[in-house]
Amino acid sequence: MQPATQSTLTVFEILNLDQAAQNSQTLSKAIGDSFLFKNNPLYKNIRSEFLKFGYSFTTEDFCHYVAMPFLSLPEILRHKKVPYFDNVTPLQLIEKAHPQKFKCEEIIKPKTNHLLHESSHCLAEEYLKKINFKIDFLSKEQNLTLPMIMAESFANTVESVCNYWNMTAEQRLLFEMNSYVIHYKKISQVLKESIDLIGIKNTFALIYISYLCSNCLLNEVSQNQFIKLVQSFFEPNISEIILKNKGCLKIFNHAFELSMDFRLQTTGFYCQMAGLKADLFKLVDIDLVMLMTKTRTVQNFLSQSEHLISNMVHK
Ligand SMILES: [Zn+2]
Repeated sequence: MQPATQSTLTVFEILNLDQAAQNSQTLSKAIGDSFLFKNNPLYKNIRSEFLKFGYSFTTEDFCHYVAMPFLSLPEILRHKKVPYFDNVTPLQLIEKAHPQKFKCEEIIKPKTNHLLHESSHCLAEEYLKKINFKIDFLSKEQNLTLPMIMAESFANTVESVCNYWNMTAEQRLLFEMNSYVIHYKKISQVLKESIDLIGIKNTFALIYISYLCSNCLLNEVSQNQFIKLVQSFFEPNISEIILKNKGCLKIFNHAFELSMDFRLQTTGFYCQMAGLKADLFKLVDIDLVMLMTKTRTVQNFLSQSEHLISNMVHK
């Protein structure tokens, strides 16, 4: 993957940018957190909602987050606490020893925090509480699998859409230090095109559906399936625009670039840890078109998160 812009920022500049943006809702010891809160409206809204739901952050590794981050999710949700690393102090030590000497790409990158991803899981957990998972055409075990897939897909989608605001070298670099999903230049362009064309709410939903497919461990979606998925969720006029536009298809297909290994470690691992015995590929064999036409499950979930993205961009 090629970075959109090569950053020549120094450690000194990064520390200053982040410090200058600090406020009571941000973490001074997680590099980039304050800066992203200030400059990325979706990042900010996720944080505000996270705090509103009564969740908090801790540098205490109470759930084996360093050793196995994917094992930690149930504990994070149970304790309503998200762990993170202090990656500011080591940068300050470097800066103190060698003032204004190092550029960011010259140093060994500090460990990445995933506050955005984990916070999104917390929000998803709250939204899922309001949804009834007794869907009659799914098996009992699939009714337990589906919420995990929906939560993971939400976290993936939030990270993906947040890339929209990576418009400067600073924004991009600090986002890279805080996210799993980084867009390369072409994907940034199609994301922007899609938002210009169908608005951010519909783009968010389109990306969310793409991650549902991806987390159901599909390698790809056929043209015919794509048409059905789009038509099962969107109003006819929006469907028509999506299906006519190659950029919308490209942004949809981006979800399948998420490595199968990552998907298996998240969705697959959660299912097995939850004690689900059925074969993993049978568990995730969920008919999403039927889910979106016969039930309001996906629609009800997304409508709860809509306020996070409304009024952000002109459409
Ligand atoms: Zn996750």
